[in-house]
Amino acid sequence: MNNNAIRKIVIVGGGTAGWMTAAPLVLRLGKSCEIVLVESPEIGTVGVGEATLPTIAYYNRALGLDGADFVKKTQATYKLGIEFKDWGHVGNRFFHGFGDFGPAIENRSPYMYWLRLAREFKDMPSYEEWSVATAMARKNRFMEPFGDQPAVSNAFQYAYHFDAGLYAAYLRDYAMQRGVARIEGMITQVEQHPETGFITAVKLRDGSRVEGDLFIDCSGFRGLLIEGVYQAGYDDWSAMLPCNSAQAVPCARVEPLTPYTRSTAQSAGWTWRIPLQHRTGNGHVYCNAFTSDEEASRVLLAGLDGRTLDDPRQLRFTTGRRRKSWIKNCVAIGLSSGFLEPLESTSINIIENSVGWLLQQFPDRGFRPELADEFNRLVSQRYEFVRDFIVMHYKVTQRDDSEFWRYCASMPIPDTLRHQIELFRETGRVVIYDPQGFSVSSHISILAGLGVAPKAYDPLIDLMDLQALRTHFDRVRDTIVRAVQAMPDHAAYVGKA
Ligand code: FAD
Repeated sequence: MNNNAIRKIVIVGGGTAGWMTAAPLVLRLGKSCEIVLVESPEIGTVGVGEATLPTIAYYNRALGLDGADFVKKTQATYKLGIEFKDWGHVGNRFFHGFGDFGPAIENRSPYMYWLRLAREFKDMPSYEEWSVATAMARKNRFMEPFGDQPAVSNAFQYAYHFDAGLYAAYLRDYAMQRGVARIEGMITQVEQHPETGFITAVKLRDGSRVEGDLFIDCSGFRGLLIEGVYQAGYDDWSAMLPCNSAQAVPCARVEPLTPYTRSTAQSAGWTWRIPLQHRTGNGHVYCNAFTSDEEASRVLLAGLDGRTLDDPRQLRFTTGRRRKSWIKNCVAIGLSSGFLEPLESTSINIIENSVGWLLQQFPDRGFRPELADEFNRLVSQRYEFVRDFIVMHYKVTQRDDSEFWRYCASMPIPDTLRHQIELFRETGRVVIYDPQGFSVSSHISILAGLGVAPKAYDPLIDLMDLQALRTHFDRVRDTIVRAVQAMPDHAAYVGKA
């Protein structure tokens, strides 16, 4: 028994990050430690994070959430990937599906083998036809993967779209049922130990104090503790990711209920479309140095496929990362630790990871600085890897029809990303810097989808029998087509949840 164990955790903020932190903490530590969450309805939440990555299913499962109940209560739909429109050039359309392009061959992505076949056979269909997730999305079909043996029925991954407010409320109920105490109030002051500088309590406007051993800053962009108290500093990445504004607006749901997010490039940014059961979420992410808010709003509203349900909401942000997310007894999770535009739905994924890393490096009241160093290393790296993956979408464009796209094509990028792009262009190979991050097939989807055609393929593939390879690919494709045809319609599957 550690007499120095953390006795009380205070979570500051009740947005997606606050409740996504509270739920796993109470599950793991609820018996040994008191957990309090403070939120201010007066300040409110950002509340726009509605698209996720497949890891959200693992996060939900680790909490023991019932999948069907979750889908019903959060008005969720399934997400097989993202359809990109007009990104490589106007008229360009490709899909970033979750999962590979068919079963691996000799431990490698089948894409490399497809490259050879596409050179030899003029009638070779697009590599996208070997992505099960993409084939399902194009037909609006969905069912959860099943079976333990490798098969078409489980050769894909999926995530969710959900109503961010309902998801936070769902996790709030989960956490409070297990003992998290919720306090409503505005924090106006923070008390620190006069010698160590550790936070000892937060003070609310009504004069009450909330003491704790560990403070988790989920206060959103403002970073009430990590920046307000500790001035952690912020690395501004706007030179590589110039978008700094967004407008979000919901509209009425239209048929069919698509199991994917759509991202459409615009002349100074891009618009999103996220289908939910009760409405469709839409938004425009743009750079206000290249367009006006009025024009951004016009573009957003002109692209809606249903009646608007509210006025557009204006948001501003600076893309970047807090220099340190853990200082002394304060750990920042969520928007307080950094922000990357939602092009690949990565913010909620970084929250999931951050909570996991905090549990892996969980301190006692001695707060060994090495634990903070390790947490900061993991968070910083993840932000950088995700940043580079998002920058890739902009940099590799052939669009030159607006000042914004001409800027993106000519902007400087990190050497690591340049190497990744050039290796793919010259040899068809993919560098993976972060094995826990986006996969080889995700990189191929983006690079090839944007129009980067590898000049070569792995010469070892020439040793294989060409006709046998083609027969194998044809057979896999037929199996995918048949399997997808037998799957239920996405809306019907959601309705059964
Ligand atoms: P917030 O939602 O801002 O919550 C902050 C909390 O702190 C609130 O409860 C507030 O009351 C409390 N608080 C602040 N100050 C005080 C105080 N003084 N006293 C008491 N309480 C206080 N992510 C994705 O993964 N997928 C997406 O599709 C996606 N889309 C996005 C689109 C846009 C335009 C933006 C801007 C973000 C998007 N995100 C997305 C990111 C996602 O919205 C956030 O990661 C997520 O909502 C977490 O926010 P948060 O909880 O950190 O902050």
